[in-house]
Amino acid sequence: MTTDKRKVVLIGCGMVGMSYAYAMLNQGICDELVLIDVDEKRAKGEAMDLNHGLAFAGNNMKIYAGEYKDCSDADIVAICAGVAQKPGETRLDLLQRNAAVFRSIIDPVTESGFNGIFLVATNPVDIMARITCSLSGFNPRRVIGTGTALDTARLRYCLGEYFNVDSRNMHAYVLGEHGDSEFVPWSQAMLATKPVLELCDESNNKYKREDLDGITEEVRTAAYKIIDAKRATYYGIGMAMTRITKAIFGNENSVLTLSAKLRGEYGVKDVYVGVPCIINRNGIQKVLELKLTDEEKDKFVQSCRTLDESYKELQL
Ligand code: NAD
Repeated sequence: MTTDKRKVVLIGCGMVGMSYAYAMLNQGICDELVLIDVDEKRAKGEAMDLNHGLAFAGNNMKIYAGEYKDCSDADIVAICAGVAQKPGETRLDLLQRNAAVFRSIIDPVTESGFNGIFLVATNPVDIMARITCSLSGFNPRRVIGTGTALDTARLRYCLGEYFNVDSRNMHAYVLGEHGDSEFVPWSQAMLATKPVLELCDESNNKYKREDLDGITEEVRTAAYKIIDAKRATYYGIGMAMTRITKAIFGNENSVLTLSAKLRGEYGVKDVYVGVPCIINRNGIQKVLELKLTDEEKDKFVQSCRTLDESYKELQL
């Protein structure tokens, strides 16, 4: 943390960025919020719109459209900027274009003297976080991707519905890529401190293991369904980013499934991937290593391999 006021610079004022900004305003998460977008007019309009809600907010907040030099004393630079996939474009082409977008962002941010924490939401988020780390030269502890934070929230919601229990009492994580190769290590899923698999086995067929596979699938395909229905997903990720920001400013040492750089945890090095992390005002304090079954370990390693291959195909 560089200052005593809580300052966030948001780069990319599209649906995701503004859902984050709106959630922060409603929850009083920061004191100063700077909006940057390649479309300067849009950033100015968004700042005006948010400022007109201030009279109804619980806290005062300074909100304005700014420039990269405003990053110099920011605590968090959050990146939601990105380009959309063009028809017929491959995933790698999109990745290549988003990497170029990130180069045009990370250089001026670091040149400003920024010394805080990068929070990346742009997809593919695990790779974009790794790119941010490499382009900025920052300590990986201070470069965080939103990872599977949203997927884990979706999972806990689905489990709460299935077991008819408050989702806050469902403890389970989505691990791996924020994308198709993500998975749920069911050996680690609990209702309070009772393993979910035990509940299934003891329930006389009320709860079934195959239903859990259905829940994994529901979580994995949730984004596709929402995009099909309303073109984009943004409220959930905006709230996930707000939760991460709150954990940083509050020095909470909270556990969230974020995209963090592995340094040998789970037998993997250098890859950014969604894992449970302890997070505080210095960034990622620790990556938690769960005791996975051999099958779960294989899924995790395979997901990391997919991410590593995509990253290495890029020409940075
Ligand atoms: P959007 O198109 O609404 O917004 C993108 C914004 O980025 C636009 O305002 C655009 O002008 C801006 N931008 C583009 N290039 C820029 C540059 N060089 N500098 C500054 N700003 C630039 O898109 P969205 O719906 O807000 O989604 C943003 C990203 O978030 C996408 O990559 C999306 O896939 C991702 N996303 C991530 C998650 C997650 O869980 N991590 C969830 C949902 C969406």
